[in-house]
Order: sequence, then structure tokens, then C-alpha cells
Amino acid sequence: MSTHSTGPAPYPRAEVSPPSGELFPHKHLLGIWGLDPTAIKHLLDTADGYAEQNRQAKKSTDKCEGLTQINLFFENSTRTLMSFEIAGKRLGMEVTSMSTGTSSIKKGETLLDTAATLNAMRPDVLVMRHADSGAVKLLSEKMDCAVINAGDGRSEHPTQALLDALTIRRRKGRIHGQTIVISGDVAHSRVARSNIYLLNAMGARVRLVAPSTLLPKDVDRLGVEICHRMEEGLEGADVVMMLRLQQERMQGAFLPSLREYYQFWGLTHEKLKYAKEDVLVMHPGPMNRGVEISSDVADDLDRSAIEEQVEMGVAVRMACLDILTRGLREEDGQ
Ligand code: ASP
Repeated sequence: MSTHSTGPAPYPRAEVSPPSGELFPHKHLLGIWGLDPTAIKHLLDTADGYAEQNRQAKKSTDKCEGLTQINLFFENSTRTLMSFEIAGKRLGMEVTSMSTGTSSIKKGETLLDTAATLNAMRPDVLVMRHADSGAVKLLSEKMDCAVINAGDGRSEHPTQALLDALTIRRRKGRIHGQTIVISGDVAHSRVARSNIYLLNAMGARVRLVAPSTLLPKDVDRLGVEICHRMEEGLEGADVVMMLRLQQERMQGAFLPSLREYYQFWGLTHEKLKYAKEDVLVMHPGPMNRGVEISSDVADDLDRSAIEEQVEMGVAVRMACLDILTRGLREEDGQ
């Protein structure tokens, strides 16, 4: 196992809008990179409250009544899009969703023209997913409203990392000091990158377990341990996050065969024996059962937190929408 020190990461810091002194002094949520532990904790504490509210019969409030949320998705999504819609509605917002199939992007409109068009409709929050790393930041520079990154290329997926952190904190009581293994296709995963930033910021010990072809080029700068064998990598793990093989982002041969991949890298009960007895198994979804994870492990209610991750996704997205629109509501005296 090798250890790599933290170095400058190649991605831009989240925008900080003055005045500071607030718990979350940012206009947008473009990534975890650039958020300090206080801001992360504030998001998680707020989301914890929403997680409790979402377990009540009455789940909605009128907190954000009169505000408009647009979800703009240029890549497919089930969990993220649905949970942003539900989150906005539970806060009383007007929510509209648009995907590439129905937008003028198909007619050749540039991203910046789309930004100008949407900006003219005066939304209060724009939630965006795009296949290109950096596209959400580019668009945020043209928008007057708050922008939330719902996943951009291989770069970041901040709300996924926050919902993962909330799940860990609720199950394990804390993030600090936990040994967290992230295993699988790290190279193509924005989930892994956002999780690495967040878990490092909150004092966890992060270990990547993957074949070298599925590690990102800048892995030396991420401040993580690296391991190439599951049996060794799972040793002492409190949490293991499995990642989907993102074949849509692969060009060329990264792997032998899916069967061989499962044999060496797929999470099975056999391999889980190397982790701590109360290890928590996570996966951001969608899962390739029988490729990166066995069905028995995914469905093992004693170990798997996969459904809870989806539940926490709504709470985290409510917290993000709430916090990023707070300034607007304060201006209006709400
Ligand atoms: N749903 C996550 C994402 O959008 C993970 C995945 O697709 O594998 O990045």
C-alpha cells in the first residue's frame, strides 16, 4: 500500500462571495473543493434536520414559496434529477426540469446562449448536469442566480459526496478517523473525486483500491492511500464505497473482461471478510450487479446503506437549495 501526500488539486475553488463570516459564504455549489469543514458541517447539519422532516407524514414547507428552480440535465439521471425535483417541491419552489432531448442544444445552441436564455427567465436556482468537466462553472459565470453542480464530467458531484457523508455520519456517528475505502473505476468518477475532497477535509483516512488503469492521472496529489488488491485494501475498513464501471467514459482497453474484473475487483461477502465486522457498504448507483458488486452484498440489509444514500439525497438537496436561497428570502424579509 502506498501513501500519497495532499498537493494542489487541479480544479478551481468554489466561488466565495463577500461578506464572509457566514457559515456558507458561497453563491454557488460547484464542487466540494474550496469548501471548508465549517461549510460542509453546516450543510450536513441542515440536511440532518430535513432527513427527520422527510420521515414525517407532512414533508413539505412553504419556506421557498415563490422561488423558481430549473433543473438542466445534459446527461441521463434517475436519482439525482428526481431527488432535486422532490427537494425543490418539498421546499415550496416552482420546479421545472429540462433534459437535452427537449432543449435547443440539439438544434445547435451553444451552452452560453442557453445560459443567457435561462437567465432571462429569472430563475432563483439552476441545477445542472453536463458531460464536460468545467461546463457547470462556465455556465455559472453567466447566471445571476445560484448554480448547483449535479455532476460535471469526471470533475465533481458535490451533492453525492454530501449525501454519502451524511449517511456515514448518521450510521457511524462521525466521519473523522474512519477508514474509508473507495473502490473501482476511480479514474472516471466525479463521485470519487468529490468524496476524496470531502472526506479528507473532514479528517477521514481515504484509501483507493483499484487496478492502476482505473486510477486518475493526478492520484499522487489527492492525499490518499493506494492499494491494488482488494484483500489488502479492505483491511480494517469502516466503510467501503463501490463505484460503477463507467464504460461510457472509457476509450480503449482499461480492463481484461467483466468476468475477470468481478473476480478481482467485485465486492463479495468473501472479500468483505477482510474489512471490519460492522463495515458499511455504499454505492452511488446505478449499480452493475455482478460486475463491481454482488447482488447478495448490495441487498444485505445489515451491511448495505445503498437505499439510505438515496433517502439522504433528498435531504441533502433540500439543504443545498435552502442554504443557497437564504439570501433571497432574507432580502424579502421571509
Ligand atoms: N450517478 C453517479 C454519477 O452521476 C455515479 C455513476 O453514474 O456511476 O456520477
